[in-house]
Amino acid sequence: MRPFQYIAILFVVLLGIITYLYFRGIIGFVWLPVFCVLYVTLLYFGVTQIQWNFYISSYNKGNNKHFIALTFDDGPNTETSAILDVLRQEQVKAAFFCIGKHIEQDQALVLRMYDEGHVVGNHSYYHSSGFDWMSSKRMLAEIEKCNSLIRKITGRQPHMFRPPYGITNPNLSRAVKRSGMASIGWSLRSFDTVARDGEQLKNRIINKLSGGDIILLHDSVPLTREILTDLIRQARKKGFTFVRIDQLLDVPAYA
Ligand SMILES: [Zn+2]
Repeated sequence: MRPFQYIAILFVVLLGIITYLYFRGIIGFVWLPVFCVLYVTLLYFGVTQIQWNFYISSYNKGNNKHFIALTFDDGPNTETSAILDVLRQEQVKAAFFCIGKHIEQDQALVLRMYDEGHVVGNHSYYHSSGFDWMSSKRMLAEIEKCNSLIRKITGRQPHMFRPPYGITNPNLSRAVKRSGMASIGWSLRSFDTVARDGEQLKNRIINKLSGGDIILLHDSVPLTREILTDLIRQARKKGFTFVRIDQLLDVPAYA
């Protein structure tokens, strides 16, 4: 059983006890809504915090104290080509979690990712805001559609899936299980999509870095491309070694 299932059972039991205590006149009515709000808040964090492994067990961090891994979401995108140039220059192998509909628009860029030794992972087909409201069947169809595109280009069957927005729920858990893929989270969220200042963004990542980190970045953000060279060099100065995510986690990148 996953944590959310234990919590659901606990919720029902505690709700029964609270209701009983209320009808016995031992506690006030206010405890009923307060308890329900607490439960909903807990579910909210369970859905939004992939590191909690609440609905689905994800790989969020490696064990090695010196190794770290770069991951880029939402590509292929406007900055992908320039980011690939930097990675080649600095000799870093990263992982790109690609969106199916973007792959269709720039297949050559996906082939370049693969040919240059990066992991090409699955980040759903549409990456729509409604993804998390879909049935597990529809989610699975999206995952498989994206996989077949990657397979067509690289000849490899992806094994790594990163949930869009890092949001998880029971339907996604079922879909990922049926796909046979590994769910990949992160341990260091850069918040690069909302960053305004490159120096601040880079320093925030560097200051938070710890061994085993999976760094979440986006190849849609110009600022990310701008700071990437310095980020890599400063992380190396701090004694970290960049490895590919499959090496960091000891999980195969392809099936
Ligand atoms: Zn994304």
